[in-house]
Amino acid sequence: MKKYILTCALLAAAVAVEARAARPSRARLQEQAVEAMAEADSLRRLSGLQGAAIDSLQNLLDRMEARLENRARTARESSDKPADPEQAAADSIADLQFRLQRKQIESTFDTHGLTVLDTLDSGNDALHVILYANNTWKYVRNRAVAKDSTIFEKYWDTTSLFPYQEVDMSSMPQSVVIDLIDSTKSYHYPYKGAVNPRGKYGPRRGRRHQGVDLPLKMGDSVYATFCGRVRISKYVRGYGNLVIIRHDNGLETYYGHLSERLVEPGTWVEAGHIIGLGGSTGRSTGPHLHFETRYYGQAFDPERLIDFKNGILCRETFLLKKSFFSIYSNAGQDFEDEIANEEQDKKEAAEKAAMRYHKIRSGDTLGAIARKYGTTVTNICRLNGIKSTTILRIGRTLRVR
Ligand SMILES: [Zn+2]
Repeated sequence: MKKYILTCALLAAAVAVEARAARPSRARLQEQAVEAMAEADSLRRLSGLQGAAIDSLQNLLDRMEARLENRARTARESSDKPADPEQAAADSIADLQFRLQRKQIESTFDTHGLTVLDTLDSGNDALHVILYANNTWKYVRNRAVAKDSTIFEKYWDTTSLFPYQEVDMSSMPQSVVIDLIDSTKSYHYPYKGAVNPRGKYGPRRGRRHQGVDLPLKMGDSVYATFCGRVRISKYVRGYGNLVIIRHDNGLETYYGHLSERLVEPGTWVEAGHIIGLGGSTGRSTGPHLHFETRYYGQAFDPERLIDFKNGILCRETFLLKKSFFSIYSNAGQDFEDEIANEEQDKKEAAEKAAMRYHKIRSGDTLGAIARKYGTTVTNICRLNGIKSTTILRIGRTLRVR
């Protein structure tokens, strides 16, 4: 029991470090980071005393430390000079690049059938620590106080596959940053072990194949990839027996062709929870799992998140770009390039936001319009592909910025 108390104390302290790291004011950031790192250091020394559970705790500490170090670096750099929007943009991109770095996150243990020894407070009301009989532990969200519960209320429909009709995807930004896992959210490969996908995301015989196909044996367990809540569990034409899980970050994962579904809509699941058994129901020519990842109903290549061949999750934080929703966009394309493009996208978005137009009225001249918007006739001509001698037609719209 003493062991568990110590583990618990370590966890509570770890959570405290994490909580402190959560969005501190910029001025206090550096100081806090230094404090937290000292704390992490003493925790690490303490952790030398412990046997089991330490590897994963060490892992957590390492991740937090890396994150804090990066934040401290950003804070140091920015405190040296006055606020400069260009520098701030570069910093935020550097920070993003750090967060988006490729990682190798192994599949967690299967929690199914494991006896829970104890549920402990973590020092944070939103989190519990679950201790299992095999001496492993896991953070589990206290769903009673989960703050982002709107994810599981808005567009929540347990009968319709696509409850997002009223969502205007055209207003979605060019990219969204999605946290896949943190200390509370673990990852489990959808199958018991890594397999080479048999079918890839992309066009296939005139159809759009919007997921990957993982070969498995009839009746083999299929696992929830991340924690979340089952939205759909029913037979659907094409998909056969289908389970859809919505996750805390808004992503949904689809598990199709199951021979059996083992969860009902509304069930909360953890990564590694067995949700169904492999099969060949629906449009399928042999036992396999059809696995999809979607955001607001839009599918993108799951291989952007998971290295199926090796069974690992490729990153903790994912930059989901609107362009990924194209059936022709796949993980084989260079992700690092996509990140580099982020800067360009931001610039373009800023330019787009700064655009101004003027509708020509009777009596307008290019000179008067230029003066009114603080620009020059040459600029207006360049933006609209006209000459200074072009006759201005009333009602025509000119771009002035
Ligand atoms: Zn498929």
